[in-house]
Amino acid sequence: MSARVLLLGGTGDALRIARALGPEHVYSLAGLGRVPADLSCAVRVGGFGGAPGLARYLADEGIGCVLDATHPYAAQISANAARACEQAKLPYWALRRAPWQPQPGDDWRWVDDWAGVVEAIKPYARVLFTLGREPLAHLGEVPLHQHWTVRCLDAHPGHARAQVIDARGPFTAEGERMLFKTGRYDVIVSKNSGGAATGAKLGVAREMGLPVVMVKRPSLPPAQREFASVQEVLDALADLNQRKIDA
Ligand code: NAP
Repeated sequence: MSARVLLLGGTGDALRIARALGPEHVYSLAGLGRVPADLSCAVRVGGFGGAPGLARYLADEGIGCVLDATHPYAAQISANAARACEQAKLPYWALRRAPWQPQPGDDWRWVDDWAGVVEAIKPYARVLFTLGREPLAHLGEVPLHQHWTVRCLDAHPGHARAQVIDARGPFTAEGERMLFKTGRYDVIVSKNSGGAATGAKLGVAREMGLPVVMVKRPSLPPAQREFASVQEVLDALADLNQRKIDA
């Protein structure tokens, strides 16, 4: 097997892995966020054109292994990667970040999707969305009795009943406490992303007795190897590199 790795990214964890990759490897981004310019590995930006496009890319570029370190809610690219690897008979490896687990005192309301979010937040007036850019597409639908604050990576002017805070994690408990107090939110909306960078909000919501509307994780395809941490991935890549040197 070629030891050339295609790393699918778009997360802080993926960037940490990309920083450890040498020039023969490729780091791939969808192109929605910042593109790092200080990596040793190659960086490519933009979609592949679904699973067939990705399968073609893998063959054309002589990729030997796909490592999926995309966000746990980026289900489409993960499904495409698993399918393309199956077609190309290549290993599909994935970093699967563990979800957050509710703690005693948490009041989490599980929903499946955006329709579930809208239903669950109906009783509340001041809503803080911390699940990415999705609410931006619905700013025209803020009910008259609500005010929305949307924290995401995009700048947006908002309007009288919607404020957009463009901010990038990691977020500290102290910062979240300050934000929640200033915003006087009644409810927080979140994905169950897992990891330390954005998890402080949950502890602060617990402290302040705030309900959290939690969007369930999508199902992801099984991988030949699944890693629970960036360190596990780095160990596996070092091993792959060693085998190449020994061969
Ligand atoms: P998605 O729904 O799974 O993917 C949509 C399409 O974007 C894919 O079909 C693919 O296009 C392209 N794509 C996604 N990730 C790519 C990558 N790493 N390299 C090349 N093309 C990629 O993904 P999403 O939820 O829109 O997320 C987009 C990116 O943002 C992902 O890389 C993800 O890691 C990151 N991100 C997502 C979230 C989230 O909550 N969803 C949060 C933080 C970061 P083609 O079909 O044309 O190949």
